[in-house]
Amino acid sequence: MSLRYDTFYVGSEWVRPATDRTINPLNASTEEPLGHVPEGVEADIDNAVAAARAAFDAPSGWASWESGRRAEVMDRFADAIDRRADEFVARVSAQNGMPVAVARQLETGYPSAVLRFYGGLARELSVTETRPGLFGGSIEVRKLPVGVVAAIVPWNFPQALSMFKIAPAMASGCTLVVKPSPETVLDAYLLAEAADEAGVPAGVLNIVPAGREVGAHLVAHPGVDKVAFTGSTTAGRGIAETCGRLLRPVTLELGGKSAAIVLDDADLDLAKIGEGLFGATLLNNGQTCFLGTRVLAPRNRYAEVVDAFTTFAGSLTIGDASDPATQIGPMATAQQRDRVESYITKGRGEGARVTTGGGRPKGLERGWFIQPTVFADVDNSAVIAQEEIFGPVLSLIPYDDVDDAVRIANDSDFGLGGTVWTADPERGLAVAHRVRTGTIGVNRYIPDPAAPFGGIKASGLGRELGPEGLTGYQQTQTVYL
Ligand code: NAD
Repeated sequence: MSLRYDTFYVGSEWVRPATDRTINPLNASTEEPLGHVPEGVEADIDNAVAAARAAFDAPSGWASWESGRRAEVMDRFADAIDRRADEFVARVSAQNGMPVAVARQLETGYPSAVLRFYGGLARELSVTETRPGLFGGSIEVRKLPVGVVAAIVPWNFPQALSMFKIAPAMASGCTLVVKPSPETVLDAYLLAEAADEAGVPAGVLNIVPAGREVGAHLVAHPGVDKVAFTGSTTAGRGIAETCGRLLRPVTLELGGKSAAIVLDDADLDLAKIGEGLFGATLLNNGQTCFLGTRVLAPRNRYAEVVDAFTTFAGSLTIGDASDPATQIGPMATAQQRDRVESYITKGRGEGARVTTGGGRPKGLERGWFIQPTVFADVDNSAVIAQEEIFGPVLSLIPYDDVDDAVRIANDSDFGLGGTVWTADPERGLAVAHRVRTGTIGVNRYIPDPAAPFGGIKASGLGRELGPEGLTGYQQTQTVYL
């Protein structure tokens, strides 16, 4: 793959960048260059915000459109994305190491489904509601688009996480400037081409790949009305501070360290639960925010759970992300692999026992591979149990009884996801209700476009997806009549 782009998609045109700096993504499985795109600088962000601002502020612009008309554009956009499905899969998995089997499920069909879901909500959108006033007269309550949205996304699910923002923003009548992460830029160009083909009106969607400092410029830009961010908790805190100072609405989807609670009645037959367990604990090479990487196991079945997870993680197929048989691909960057390896060293230093993995796989000298790793005998206060590793590393923590399991699950700075594994779904639900996180699953976990997704505590603020996700892109105006 060698793809070269020399322009940005701004104002429905392909405009020249302000400098000749480039971003040069590498193939995570082979370390080979994949091409280049221009690297956005502050002036490029200024142009993109101006285009989004003009599209939003125009009296007969996108925001003024009847929402069903916006939905037609969104449906065409979804169709144009679907037509590029194979290319999205190839680009995403080459750049960030996501196995193609995962990319096909979550980086193509999923984003277009989110777009169609919000197109459907746009068709039903009731912008104005009239109600009687308590003291006479009547009152009009209007749900207005919040304005120009700065959407900043990470590299791990670049398309899905962009669409979590683009779809509700478009549905409510907002315009956007999207800033992809430098690791995953080539798929962003495919998205721009799809928008172009679908006839998304000028300035509604603008895409400028750039680094952190330029991202910070976008967050603080006077032309921006709302910030939607997915990324690390550290960056999220900085963005929240800026938005706090500016009194600018912000949605933050940040890190996680979720618990997978194995109850004492759980069926550990991997033939039955393996696929669900994979999606909930090791999906995308462990580079997924909601994964249950703290596995809580009852003491009376601890040895059995350790055996099951050791077999499960140890038998996954590691390889080039472009191979359909691959279950675990490489880390997205060399830096990310260093980070994961440093946590494995810390885990060993803390006295935890590696039962499988713990190093680099043999025969894969190129690419940033790391073996799926299971640590047993982990205390929940250990660094590997408290900090987000963002790699294929699981910590198995014993518990005494269900109260103890719930206490350990909640003993975390994060509060994003989690799962409960049990033969009795009602019992699982009762335990799930006691876990303090934004989302949780019983015997499965996959964010559904119809349901709100997001975290509490250090995992973030606000919700994406579901009808609830639309409210983050609306503001309310009351008219007393
Ligand atoms: P990151 O925070 O380093 O970067 C994310 C994006 O923000 C990138 O586009 C980056 O260029 C930009 N950025 C970084 N600092 C910025 C700043 N100060 N101002 C503006 N933009 C800035 O995160 P990452 O390493 O790319 O992604 C991994 C992290 O994302 C993990 O912590 C993971 O848990 C989190 N994540 C969360 C969710 C969720 O929905 N909660 C989903 C996926 C990933």
